[in-house]
Formats: sequence, C-alpha cells, structure tokens
Amino acid sequence: MSDNTTIAAVATPVGPGGIAIVRISGPAAEKVAARVFRPAKTGFPLKSHKLCLGNVVDPKTDRLLDQVLCCFMRAPATYTREDVVEIHSHGGPLAARRVLDAVLAAGASLAEPGEFTRRAFLAGRIDLSQAEAVAELIGARSQVEADLAMAQLSGGLKELAETLGKPLIEVLAHLEVALDFPDEEAEIIEGPVAAERLAREVLEPLNLLLADYDSGRVFREGIKAAIVGQPNVGKSSLLNALLQSERAIVTPQPGTTRDLIEADAVWDGLPLTLVDTAGLETEAADEAEAQGQARAALRLATADLILLVLDRSQPLSNEDRRIMTAAPAGRTLLVLNKIDLAPAFNPAEVPDFLGSAPMVEVSALTGQGLANLREKISQTVTSGAHRPEAVPALVPNLRHKQALEASRKPLKRAIAGLKNGLAPELTAVEINLTLEELGTITGQTTPDHILDEIFGKFCLGK
Ligand code: GDP
Repeated sequence: MSDNTTIAAVATPVGPGGIAIVRISGPAAEKVAARVFRPAKTGFPLKSHKLCLGNVVDPKTDRLLDQVLCCFMRAPATYTREDVVEIHSHGGPLAARRVLDAVLAAGASLAEPGEFTRRAFLAGRIDLSQAEAVAELIGARSQVEADLAMAQLSGGLKELAETLGKPLIEVLAHLEVALDFPDEEAEIIEGPVAAERLAREVLEPLNLLLADYDSGRVFREGIKAAIVGQPNVGKSSLLNALLQSERAIVTPQPGTTRDLIEADAVWDGLPLTLVDTAGLETEAADEAEAQGQARAALRLATADLILLVLDRSQPLSNEDRRIMTAAPAGRTLLVLNKIDLAPAFNPAEVPDFLGSAPMVEVSALTGQGLANLREKISQTVTSGAHRPEAVPALVPNLRHKQALEASRKPLKRAIAGLKNGLAPELTAVEINLTLEELGTITGQTTPDHILDEIFGKFCLGK
C-alpha cells in the first residue's frame, strides 16, 4: 500500500499559461491546504469536490503569494483514493512554483514522477494496464495512439486479462480437488474436455491478441526509420525534405552533424521517427565520429526500416557496396538521390545484395519523387495492408506482448498435459505459471523493479 506521506507537485506543464494546478495527495492534504490557503468567504472545513476562491500565503510569513481556486476532494472518490487538494494558481513558471514551495513548506513532500498514478494503482483504483494507458495518452502523438490509450484506460485490457484468467482458475480448482481428494470420482475432471476449453477460451483469444499486436504495433509505437549512406549522398537533405513535405508534424531533436539527428513526424496517422545517421563503417576521423558511427550501427540494428541512400550522380563506390552488404534485407528501401543531376550509374548496376529491396528515385533538392518515397515507406512498414482505420480497438504494448508470449508457453504445456493425462500436480504447476505471467499485465504479479521502471517514465505531477 502507499505510504503515509503527503505528496505534492505541479501537475501542469512548466511555462506561461492561464492556470497551473498544484496537486496534493495524502492523509495530511487538508491540513497542508489549511496552512497555505485562505478562503475568501467560507472557512475550513472545505466542502468536498467544490471549487473555493481564496488566496495562497506563505505559511511562515503569511505573505500573499497568489489568488487561486482551491478544490478539496475527500477520499476515496479521488484519483489516488487518498484525500486530494488541487490548487488552481496562475500559470507561468514562477507563480505555480511559489504555490508549490508554500505547500512543501507546509509539510508536503515533493512527489516523484508518476507517484500520483502509482498511488492510484496501489490503492486498486486502476490496474497496471490502465496506469500505463495514462502515460500513453499523455505521450500520444497521433489520433490512433490516443484512441488506443483510451480503450486501455477504460479497462479493455484489464477485462480481457480477467476473462482469460477465469477458465484457468476454474480448471486449476478442479485439479486441486482431484489432488486433495483422489478418491472422489465425481470431482475428477475430464482432461481432454478441460484441454479443449483452455484451447478455445484462453489460447485462441491470446493468439488473436498477439496478432493484433503485430498489426497495430506501428500505429501504437510508431516506427523508426534510419537514413544511412556514405557521406555527401544527401542524407540530411533527405531528412529535411521529407519532414518539410505536407502533413508532417515535426518535433526536431537537436544533435550535431556528427551524431544522430532525430525527428518525430506523423504521416497519415503513422507516428514516424526519422534518424539521420553518421556515415556507416567509414574510417572514423576522430573519437566523436567513431562514437557517432557506433550509435548509427546500433540504430541500424533496431530500426524498423532502413533508408539506404545512394548518390546516383556518382559512380557506385566500394563504400556504397559495403553499406549495402550490411543492410538487412526485408527492412531496407534503396533511395537513389540527386536524380536532378546527370546519372553516373545505371540502377540496374546496383548489386543484388538486398534481394528485392524496393528502389525509389528522388531528388532531395527539387523534391522530385518524395511523395512516392513517402508512400513506399508507409507501404513497407504496414505491409500495405493497414490504414489507421483498420487498427484493432485494443492493441497490447510491448510489455503486454511479452507477458502474453511468456504465458503461452506454460499454457500449451498445460493443455498438452490435460490431453495426455499427465499427473494433475504437474499440470497445476503449468497453469499457475500461466496465471502468474498473465497477472503481470494487470500488475497483480508484477515485480517492484518493473513497477519502478513503468512509473519512472511518467512526467512529474502525474
Ligand atoms: P549527407 O552527408 O549524406 O548528410 O549529405 P548532405 O545532405 O549534407 O548533402 C551533401 C551535398 O549534396 C550538399 O551539398 C547537398 O546540397 C547536396 N544534395 C543533397 N541532395 C541533393 C539532390 O537531390 N540534388 C543535388 N543536386 N544535390 C543534392
């Protein structure tokens, strides 16, 4: 359970704004509020879930800090199921900070990132998949991501995990009766019948969920495309040209020319991160460049898609060939750049290292061929089969997928055991393992260090 401390943080983003909210949660929330808040009309105790106008003062000096609206919410009908106070102060980097400092001086301690949501999870108000959905909704870059987060926040995945668990628990109960009372014939379950039930009610839906992960993944997690090629083929020009093309919402992330330059974009609902890599496998001129190249190689290994850029106005070099050999077939798109210049090689000369990797001709300078390239990128990563409208309503995230896969192994062994009349105690072990893995989705059986990792990714004040 959550500890006894009372925590506080600014729940709104830093920066100029109309209002900011300082949130306080814990057993002393009302007491802390009483030390800093002076209601304009009515006094304490404040009415629950009602906004009240007043001033915030420094609890030590009584100096007036801000005019605010204060909302006291009595447990348990709150986000954390603890007493919660929200102070709506004026926005701006300083105003909210002054109110927060007053609240901290009045006895609250500064919340860790995600601590409010963690308390909501620990109090059982939401399960882990819903807590994750909160972070996913906050971080959503596209409509599809936001819709998927909302489906999960509404408990879609939690319900599914519970539905999968039910037949397992029932079969387990039967097995345990058979173990405890081996002579009670009536209670002995028909192994093949139970096996068939688990296959139909657990394994099948689990397989479908995993298939939904594959089909919805690119829309849920976005895709990473790495732009590789030897120096001067036009990688940075291509990155910029692609991001300037219509409908891209771009958030550039600063880097140096020697390092990776990343930019996030959303194309037709598809969240995409483009990474411009330093020249791959070239002789590093210095330490910084060598590091840049090591990072680029790493990106190549993890990218969903490689845009391998060649300069068509130059003869193919050994360096070009080396990079082509290193590129993973199946995930590579060949981009012949600078088609506004006279060609120095024929595309047919491109060695067949990459099997049938699609090839697109473009000019990053004039923009020629870019629309086609964009279309090819979308097609390649979604196998051409998926548009945002076709994404399943519920798509597990990577962590859920791993839990589903981990639960499938003991589940299959349990089904085989039931079918083949394996000793009930052995089958019971497998079913328990399955339940344990499934339980990590909702957080019932999730180890603390994983919880730390999940909540650590939240922003402050959530
Ligand atoms: P990088 O080292 O691979 O990132 O290459 P840059 O993007 O820095 O481009 C190298 C040079 O090629 C620059 O002078 C660019 O202006 C030029 N360049 C890039 N793309 C094109 C293109 O499509 N046509 C022409 N003519 N020049 C290009």
